[in-house]
Amino acid sequence: MEEKKDYRAELFYEPKNGFDTMTAEDRAAMEDYCEGYKRYLNDSRTERECVANAVALAREQGFAEFVPGMALKAGDRVYYNNRGKSLLLAVMGEQPMSEGAVITAAHIDSPRLDLKQLPLYEDSELAFFKTHYYGGIKKYQWTAIPLEIHGTVALKNGETVDVVIGRDSADPQLMVSDLLPHLAREQMSKTLGEAIKAESMNILAGSVPYADDGADRVKLAVMSILNSQYGITEADLISAELCAVPAFEVRDVGLDRSLIGGYGHDDRVCAYAELKAIFDIPGTPKRTAVCILADKEETGSDGVSGMQSQAFEWFMNKLCKATGSELDDCFARSLCVSADVTVAYDPNYPDVSEKRNAGKLNYGVGLCKFTGSRGKSGTNDAPAELVAYIRRVLDGAGVQWQMTELGKVDQGGGGTVAMFMGNRNIDTIDAGVPVISMHAPFEVVAKYDCYMTYRCMLANYLA
Ligand code: MN
Ligand code: MN
Repeated sequence: MEEKKDYRAELFYEPKNGFDTMTAEDRAAMEDYCEGYKRYLNDSRTERECVANAVALAREQGFAEFVPGMALKAGDRVYYNNRGKSLLLAVMGEQPMSEGAVITAAHIDSPRLDLKQLPLYEDSELAFFKTHYYGGIKKYQWTAIPLEIHGTVALKNGETVDVVIGRDSADPQLMVSDLLPHLAREQMSKTLGEAIKAESMNILAGSVPYADDGADRVKLAVMSILNSQYGITEADLISAELCAVPAFEVRDVGLDRSLIGGYGHDDRVCAYAELKAIFDIPGTPKRTAVCILADKEETGSDGVSGMQSQAFEWFMNKLCKATGSELDDCFARSLCVSADVTVAYDPNYPDVSEKRNAGKLNYGVGLCKFTGSRGKSGTNDAPAELVAYIRRVLDGAGVQWQMTELGKVDQGGGGTVAMFMGNRNIDTIDAGVPVISMHAPFEVVAKYDCYMTYRCMLANYLA
């Protein structure tokens, strides 16, 4: 009898678990890469710290600060620090900018609790900071966990004072209280969205009264500590950006240490991948490589440091001018990889994902043709030809990738900076790391996916 050929391998698309395909060298390189990422993440808890730490790394790699009007030639490495809150880096290519740049764009802001401009008050002989949460959070996750405060106070005289409270193991930490279960019958009958009110998310800041017999003695005592440590007064807090962020250390997760837990993977995990990739471009690339660490993605990418800001055009136009190119020609021929995290399939919550199209931990960098919600509203939706191009680039470089989708149709959804790049006439596709417990104070990613996302960014720069 004639033997029948099994055509499955030829005709079907079957993604594979990275641990079934990786070599020993891959595994060592992955661990090495992830140690660098863990250090960066642990030390970068706000967009300002992400920028400062990225600038320090860039300078070590030979990047120079971009100064308007400076001459630029192929192979030059420059960075532009936009107000300390977003960062643009470039490696000038052999070809003029009119041939297009290869851009990668991630964001470095993460959900958190911002202190209000008049935050400090006293109630019942306890001092508190009022907060206004930043980005999309599930409020109940942010109570009864240790918090740190990171930020900057801008003084009237033009100086700034950096504040970090709680990062050093000798520092005190802070927290937002929650109700004990014994008295939470009413709270527990509410929905998760209603059980914690934003205006009750006040940070406990102190309890010792100042030694006099005036009003607000505990508030005065806390303010005097801030004054002695940072030289600031209550009025200076008006021109401050102080952020309460989770105090958890970045740690390996899982008995096999295959995962990383920490605060702010969204989207510092992709920001670091881009950074490391632009650092690792050997010599002079064909096309100019641009790496963007953007702010304000979690609140809609508005504002001077967000991806909708003309600061991007300003920087790109300067690079174009330096190589005798027009900005609109550059954009029309550029490629942008919008590097942002995507959702990883979580078997504890199977109902929100459609398994055939969901991202999986350990399956590599997650490509996303479209984001948006309810009928792809608010999406970039990469053209099919661009998806084919990325398949070619990644397969050619031996980068493992998977297709992902942000949840079931009509389940919810989300956005990235992709549409703001697409709107600029730049071919754009989303690619990033699948995350478990996205936007929680402690998010989880797989080391393999982190490493493949770095390899994806590098492959695009070198394509
Ligand atoms: Mn994101
Ligand atoms: Mn996000």
